Amino acid sequence: MEDSINSSTNLFPRYMEIPRKISDTMWRFIQVAGVIIALALTYVLFFYPDTGLFILWKIAVPLLPLVFVVVPGLWRNSCPLAFINQIPRIFGFTKGLNTPAIFVKYGYMIAFSILFILVTSRKIIFNSSGEATAILILIIVVLTFIGGLFIKGKGGFCSSICPVLPVERIYGQSPFIVLPNMHCRPCVGCTVYCYDYNPSAAYLADQYYENKFHSFLRKLFASFFPGYVLSYFIVAGPPDNPVFLMIAKMLMFSACSSIIFFLLELIIKPSANKLPPLFGITAFSIYYWFTFPILSESLFVLSGIKLSAEVIYVLRFLIILFSLYWLIRTYAKEKKFISEILAPGVPVFTLFSSDKVGKIEVKV
Ligand code: SF4
Repeated sequence: MEDSINSSTNLFPRYMEIPRKISDTMWRFIQVAGVIIALALTYVLFFYPDTGLFILWKIAVPLLPLVFVVVPGLWRNSCPLAFINQIPRIFGFTKGLNTPAIFVKYGYMIAFSILFILVTSRKIIFNSSGEATAILILIIVVLTFIGGLFIKGKGGFCSSICPVLPVERIYGQSPFIVLPNMHCRPCVGCTVYCYDYNPSAAYLADQYYENKFHSFLRKLFASFFPGYVLSYFIVAGPPDNPVFLMIAKMLMFSACSSIIFFLLELIIKPSANKLPPLFGITAFSIYYWFTFPILSESLFVLSGIKLSAEVIYVLRFLIILFSLYWLIRTYAKEKKFISEILAPGVPVFTLFSSDKVGKIEVKV
């Protein structure tokens, strides 16, 4: 099936056209190791909660956004949940049903809603309770596995309702290192504009999709993301704020951010992928502005090395410069997408899967 797909430009290669620098055996080893580490972490969260919470919230999670921006394929290929989701397919006992229509249409909204509920809940319970966090991880493991048991490809979880997916997509839209997807052999077309199928074109295709509701959901997430991230760090949780007040304040920050986004869109009328990356990378910069002190604290606990306040400011400045550079190259990519893929007169490039849900040709 894949051989019949037209060749696409090298700028937006599909996953089977991206050079494989890491062998499948090595990926499998990394994936199995990831599952063992995740299960060990769950054990530690249950029985040594302070250690587990420290590893999860003060080392692992703070590093993930950087991975999503620089080399998102590393996480897409090694995420323990993705591997668990794919076990039924690997061993040939998945039912392989089509991705449910509700996931195709509303999956992104379900994903970012779960993300906001879970991240907000960190301030209420998960930041302080190892047991609750461990139970949450186990519930997600079971749901992920069930998704893979019934739905084909990664449509039952990873590429539809995974709460991390919207973040991966907005941060990972112009990766510095592109790694080919190693899960799908072959692609079974489970997802519209799949990130795993074409990591360089997926987010742009989202924005230029003729289905306006699809694009609107992506914009909606981008619009309130920086406000939400800011609110996470500056709105105090219980007991300083009762839960309802904390949520109201966080919603207010998110709404203000969203209003700014849509006002800018109304006034400036930018091209489709100008504001989403701007708001996405602003969320990223805000995140690291507040996270560098946390990482510095972790470094001190692990190694005894203490970063001065000046060094932390330098790191913050560097991440802002890095974000600006990322934004410039992301805008340049949109320009190329418009001129080399969407422009009238260029040949039709099939950038996405040739199967059912995934069959979307970029029209010329
Ligand atoms: S659309 Fe294809 S490449 Fe993407 S997750 Fe589904 S099976 Fe894998």
